[in-house]
Formats: sequence, structure tokens, C-alpha cells
Amino acid sequence: MSFFEKLKAGMSKTRKNISEKINVVLSAFTRVDEDLLEELEETLILCDLGVSTSTAAIEKLRSRIKLERIKDVSEVKKALKEILLELVDFEEKEEHFPKIILIVGVNGAGKTTSIGKIAHVYKEQGKDVMLAAADTFRAAASEQLTIWADRAGVPIVKYGEGHDPAAVVYDAIDSCKSHGRDLIIVDTAGRLHNKVNLMNELGKISRVIDREYPEAEKETLLVLDGTAGQNALFQAREFANTVHVDGIILTKLDGTAKGGFVLAIKEELGIPVKYIGVGEGIDDLQRFDPKDFVDSLID
Ligand code: GDP
Ligand code: MG
Repeated sequence: MSFFEKLKAGMSKTRKNISEKINVVLSAFTRVDEDLLEELEETLILCDLGVSTSTAAIEKLRSRIKLERIKDVSEVKKALKEILLELVDFEEKEEHFPKIILIVGVNGAGKTTSIGKIAHVYKEQGKDVMLAAADTFRAAASEQLTIWADRAGVPIVKYGEGHDPAAVVYDAIDSCKSHGRDLIIVDTAGRLHNKVNLMNELGKISRVIDREYPEAEKETLLVLDGTAGQNALFQAREFANTVHVDGIILTKLDGTAKGGFVLAIKEELGIPVKYIGVGEGIDDLQRFDPKDFVDSLID
């Protein structure tokens, strides 16, 4: 299966939901008028694009219809698709190595699983990757990460439960410097309910990185459960208020029809989606490609 076919398969529930709803609306109208736009706006909201994204999209569509004098309902779909793409499109920055990626998010969001998948992605690109088990809050966390390190075939730095997470990161940096590795991916504990602890912990890890590894590019990715809908948005705001977030990994899109949510994130939070998770296997993570994503949703 190609990347795009996998994406389509993984997003099949969302794709069915959005495509069907939009087609139903479009086929009910013979004229391009305000009623059609209102129905479309409602549909986008129903497809989990969120109110502000849906309103913004329809506003753009309205101006475009005027500007290009669109009279044909079939042309509306094409225009809508292009507008949705504009909403999620972002300029991909060039990556530099060595690099260190901090993975944050609440428990159960899919952090550890996503780390295994990301390690696999970079390993396939020929990068020398190492994992750091800085979720020392629960013993099971580093065991689970070890399983993913084995699956991806990459080394891991881990200590027992209750150890200082920043010390784990320190050791990982040390090992990467002496082995000339390219990338460290750090698993962290997801204690959102204790904001002070979370901030202290992530702050301490960040300071270790800044002090010991200033030459490395630092990226913080927030993992969100794609099935959580508006609640995920709430979590994202909380995290973004606590730490600087560079990008989002949206997981479990295979299990939901609410994947339209992906389109709302950038408009709502101003943070781009970097990866999407479409299954539990090591290959089930994709670099988010705005064009492929929109193409996979609306045909
Ligand atoms: P963490 O607590 O944030 O580290 O979350 P985990 O990585 O332990 O994942 C929690 C659960 O979500 C596990 O059962 C994973 O298999 C599952 N999971 C993670 N990502 C995905 C995904 O993209 N699709 C599906 N279907 N399940 C996922
Ligand atoms: Mg975990």
C-alpha cells in the first residue's frame, strides 16, 4: 500500500463521514446561494472542524464565490477543498541534526507508542536514534518504551521508577555526543492535573538540554488523542500555556469519524499538526501532509 492509500484507509471513518455529509448538502442544491453556504457551515461544524474554523472557511468560500462568480454547485466543492487546504497548510522548516524531540501530553494520549513510531520513521531515513525514558513516574512506562525501542531497533536510556527525569536526559545527551548520534526522543510523564510539577519537570529537562546540548535543535511535540474531540483542544491549550509547543501529534484517527478535528487545530491553536497516528503498529504514523490529508478526506 502506498502512503496515501494507507492514509485513506486509516482515515476511512472520517472520510466517509465528511465526504458523505458534504455530498448530501451539495446534491440538495441546484443554486449557489446563502442557504447552501449556511448548510455547508453547519456540516463542517458537525464534522468536528469547530465553529471558528468552519466560519473562517465559509467566509473565505463566500468571497471566492463572489470573486470568481461561481454559479455551479459542483465548483463549490473544489473551492471548498482548496480553502480547507489553505487553513491547514504550513511551511515545513528544514530539520537540523543533532536534534532532540520532547514528547509531552496526558497519559493515554499515545506518547510512548508515537515515540516508537517516530523512532522507526527516522531510523528508516538512516538516522542514528536514541530514546530517553524520562517518564520515571510509573515503572511500566520505561518497560513499555523499552519494548518500542526493541521494535524500532534503537538504544534506550532508562532508570528505575522515581529517578530524576532530567538525569535520564543528561545521560542520553552524553551518550549521543560520544557516539555522534543524530536524534534523541524523550518520553515524559503526562501530569497535566499537577501543572506545577509538570512545569518544573519539563523546565528542568529543558535547562539540561540548553546547557548540555546547545548545538542540538530542540522540538517539543504535544500528543493529543484524536478521539477526544473538544476535550483534546482544551488539553492542548493547557499544555501550550505551560510549555512552548512546536507541533502536534494527533493519534487514534483510525478509530474515529471525528478526524475533521485535524483541520481545526491550526486555526484554533496556531500550532501545526506534524504527525498523525492511524493505528497501533510501528508503521501507523504519518508525517502530516496537508494536501494529502485534504485529498484523502474529500473526493
Ligand atoms: P501514553 O500514556 O501517552 O504513553 O500512551 P500510550 O502510548 O501508552 O498509548 C495508549 C494506548 O493508545 C495504547 O493502547 C496504544 O496502543 C493506543 N494508541 C496509540 N496511538 C494509537 C493510534 O494511532 N491508533 C490506535 N488505534 N491506537 C493507538
Ligand atoms: Mg507512556
